[in-house]
Amino acid sequence: MNSPHFFNCHTHFRDNSEIAIVNINIADIDGSFVLPDHRYYSIGLHPWNASTELWEKAEPLFDRILQNKSIKAIGETGIDKLRGNSVHEQQKIFVLHAELAEQYDKPLIIHCVRAYNEIIELKKSFKQQRPWIIHGFNTKSTIADKLWKHGFILSFGASICKPDSHVKEILKNAPNNGFFLENDDSTMPITDIYECAATIRQSSVDDLKNIVWDNAHNVFFEKGRS
Ligand SMILES: [Zn+2]
Repeated sequence: MNSPHFFNCHTHFRDNSEIAIVNINIADIDGSFVLPDHRYYSIGLHPWNASTELWEKAEPLFDRILQNKSIKAIGETGIDKLRGNSVHEQQKIFVLHAELAEQYDKPLIIHCVRAYNEIIELKKSFKQQRPWIIHGFNTKSTIADKLWKHGFILSFGASICKPDSHVKEILKNAPNNGFFLENDDSTMPITDIYECAATIRQSSVDDLKNIVWDNAHNVFFEKGRS
């Protein structure tokens, strides 16, 4: 693939034209599900649905779907302290996703609400690790710095376009190899999010596309990344 492309690290829309990792929540599909062509996907049990019962039901489906080469990541998975089952249960299901990411050699897309310390501690417990991406990052700079220090990649979404967004400053200082852009479930086109990000980082959209595309290539599309 030639650069520069618009790359969307995490989206819930299947019909956008950029190169994107389209999220599939395994709780929403059944055994008859066939992956639509010409897209890349992440697959996981969303933390709001995380339960042992649903995981056990989904396991054969994971085994089948993960054979498909268009699956480029495991997730979104994670811990959300404001929604879903107990933290204990969500953490247990998160670890199962992280193990799947190791087993299938894929990066992990993480939804995290008020559980950064737990996620950082869990990352430390995995020896041979795949890239861990915190999607929709929208919290403090001290947390961003801590996550980068521990090797996480942060993905920024539509919130960077809000005039008073505190994440602008974080994105402005993000290391080139430490971030992605996404639109998640926002209807804002990824091109608009790149425009905002380019303004924030005082770069051209093309330079930004090159930087993000390099990251996409290393994390999602290249074998043997570490
Ligand atoms: Zn999402």
